[in-house]
Amino acid sequence: MRTVQAAVLALLVTAQVSASSREAWVTEAEVPGATLRIEVLPPFDEEKAREIVAWLRSASSNVTLAYGRFPNPSPRVVVIPTDNHSWGGGSPVPFGRVTRYGEEKIELYVNIERPIDEFYADWTATHEFSHLMLPYLGDRHRWISEGFASYYQNVLMSRAGRYTAEDAWRKLGAGFERGRASRPELSPNEAASAGVRQARMKIYWSGAAVALLADVELRERSGGKESLDVVLDRLQRCCLPSDRTWSGPELFSKLDSLVEEAVFMPLYRRYANRAGFPDTRGAFTRLGVEVDGSGVRLRAYAELADIRSAITDVAEL
Ligand SMILES: [Zn+2]
Repeated sequence: MRTVQAAVLALLVTAQVSASSREAWVTEAEVPGATLRIEVLPPFDEEKAREIVAWLRSASSNVTLAYGRFPNPSPRVVVIPTDNHSWGGGSPVPFGRVTRYGEEKIELYVNIERPIDEFYADWTATHEFSHLMLPYLGDRHRWISEGFASYYQNVLMSRAGRYTAEDAWRKLGAGFERGRASRPELSPNEAASAGVRQARMKIYWSGAAVALLADVELRERSGGKESLDVVLDRLQRCCLPSDRTWSGPELFSKLDSLVEEAVFMPLYRRYANRAGFPDTRGAFTRLGVEVDGSGVRLRAYAELADIRSAITDVAEL
């Protein structure tokens, strides 16, 4: 990582638009609510760099399907070509992360050998961009930031038409089962404190489960006027981007202050310090999501079928 960061700094000094394979390709892309400041680091060819920039515009637009605009008006996006094919299980975007030292920067490691179509089907960039809908949370509450991004990567890929609704619910269901099987003796707070190497699936999917439960409860009790999208829209208006570390309870208390009646802190008190996994099976039954072996069936006449559709139907632009 140190080598990569030194290279980024060196390139910033000489940054300019260039077709040369020895300099960064620096450009901007407009999406609703934001201008992305993009650097594609060498090596790349010009055609691929243009394709990558078009894909970044699309992936960042996925996140605008939550509440109509990108959560940060001027994020920095750094694309780092890698030929390390052992990462990421053959994904065209084997690794991504958000750093927030004075500015929000999204780093995406890409395998530029792969055809551009594969990039559009990959969730990594949508996941990383989704992180910007929440402020930075410390290590102990990382399950909330990873969980909300894991929930939204699936929901937003579906709204964008990159996944079918069945794909999205199947992936959520599979994730919840992986999370349920991961370190059942730990609470989400304990799992996050132990670290990703110890309890990755618990960290990612317990938070996604809480995101789903909050979203369904908000939509159900408000008749669709409130949702996770609506509350995160309000959070962005009041408080983002934020340059400091928030705690989980601080974030959840703030989210509760933005809705009619508290939903987040009750979920936190119920699950954050308790071993096991949030109960998503009841919600799936009411939403009409039937996980069936490796497939899924969506029941048209389920009690909360309308809410299921509102979460994952293709968004009208
Ligand atoms: Zn993440």
